[in-house]
Amino acid sequence: MAFTLPQLPYPHEALEPYIDAQTMQIHHGKHHQAYVDNLNKAIAGTEHENKSLEELVASAGSITPAVRNNGGGHWNHSFFWQILGTNADKAPTGELSEAINSTFGSLDGLKEKVNTAGATRFGSGWAWLIVKDGRLEASSTPNQDNPLMDVAEVKGKPILGIDVWEHAYYLKYQNKRPDYLAAVWNAINWKKVAENFASSK
Ligand code: MN
Repeated sequence: MAFTLPQLPYPHEALEPYIDAQTMQIHHGKHHQAYVDNLNKAIAGTEHENKSLEELVASAGSITPAVRNNGGGHWNHSFFWQILGTNADKAPTGELSEAINSTFGSLDGLKEKVNTAGATRFGSGWAWLIVKDGRLEASSTPNQDNPLMDVAEVKGKPILGIDVWEHAYYLKYQNKRPDYLAAVWNAINWKKVAENFASSK
């Protein structure tokens, strides 16, 4: 069964002014769509055709680069749209908040670690907040890799991810990746991140 582009859970303009509507239209409608189309092409007629996206991602290193890049691209973007949001809680609460404070000292401490991971990732990639051995950790991956992949340098269960490809921010922020990284925290759906945290245990 072919993979399909998931609907955005909010309108394109919902994340303004932090992420502009045109970026969302192109990012979701063109970039994410291309990952879905190219993933379908890469698995058509192969032994991987009927595998779930999670299975493909988990064994990405032993399949083909096309499956690794486009399967990762499909998984990462599907995840990203969910952890962004409007009407979101402004800050994490409950157990997630406690875990953040115990690992990073504060929410600002967490943002700093994730932003450093994202800002220092050379070229294209992703910054992550993962659960690894029951602990929170900030990490990054190149290209469309993610921490669920067998090839990931730092493996874990992602509960938050930030796309640091230029296509995620260039229209509004041009080359200023740190400005985008500072702003994107205003558009995080902490309720969803808390759900991801709860289900990571
Ligand atoms: Mn992207």
